Amino acid sequence: MITVITFNPSIDRLYKLDDFEIGKVQRANFVNPTAGGKGLNVAKAIKKLGSTPICLGFLGGYNGLYIENEIKNIGLTNSFTKIDGETRICLNIIDKNGASTEVLEKGPVVCEEDIKSFEINLEEILKNTKVLVASGSLLQGLPIDYYNLVGKMCKDKDVKFILDTSGISLEKALNNNVYLIKPNTDELEALTNSKINSKEDAIDVAKHLIDKGIENVCISMGKDGMILLNGENIYEVEIPKINAINPVGSGDSSIGGFAYGISKGYDLVECLKLANACGMSNALYMETGCINKEDVDKFSKDIKVKITQYTT
Ligand code: ADP
Repeated sequence: MITVITFNPSIDRLYKLDDFEIGKVQRANFVNPTAGGKGLNVAKAIKKLGSTPICLGFLGGYNGLYIENEIKNIGLTNSFTKIDGETRICLNIIDKNGASTEVLEKGPVVCEEDIKSFEINLEEILKNTKVLVASGSLLQGLPIDYYNLVGKMCKDKDVKFILDTSGISLEKALNNNVYLIKPNTDELEALTNSKINSKEDAIDVAKHLIDKGIENVCISMGKDGMILLNGENIYEVEIPKINAINPVGSGDSSIGGFAYGISKGYDLVECLKLANACGMSNALYMETGCINKEDVDKFSKDIKVKITQYTT
């Protein structure tokens, strides 16, 4: 079974406007609310591939009810912990030229009691979990090293832990409790405080992360595919060209592909093909976190993976 944590989900409201001018009344031509948050995008991709993930995190208020309803409609398993605070709303305003302006709420604050109920639930769910994905930011009230605790709980139960977050919460979790991280180039630069101008730079930097004990460091590079390093090999993924419409959420979809592949026992090459095909499929649609199984099957056949051995 695959379990997906989204600590800080949101209702993502996409507005399309002709012109967007600060200080003026804005009239939206199109509004599309969806249940969002990186983890929920991951879960949606897994569902499209054919598994039903269990979704955990915190939900509260009317916005929380809206998301619960969406989760039910999509067919995901809801195991979110209910809280008193109100789940957040995030706005993405797109003008006729495609320029995007985002307004992101911080989200509610959780208390000790909420955290305890979450942990009791997680402990139980991990007994039947093969892969756990945790995506996105922590919620206010959670300790900054909380992903480290989640990693430890996974290690104790022999669960593969995929962590897709950024900033200090990621830094604090970088050790041998983590099976896979997937920074994009910008995130890798921020994480390692280095400048990456080439694949070689990315590989050099990723080797340092492998030294910290992470089993697989996967660097996603948008239209240029992906590189994955483990302790033995470098896997370079080459993808065909597509006419991308909106690649926001492609990283989440690719994590969904990884998690699905690992849960089914695919080897790393097959997982990489699936992950990239999912990311590519998401890039073809305006909606964030949306993939199409037919695209995925087609792209998987055209993706090439080159393997090189390396020594540290
Ligand atoms: P993130 O969303 O985390 O920044 P990326 O943009 O690197 O992640 O996308 C993840 C994967 O999705 C890429 O490795 C690639 O396979 C696919 N992808 C993303 N953008 C494009 C694009 N413009 N064209 C083709 N594939 C893409």
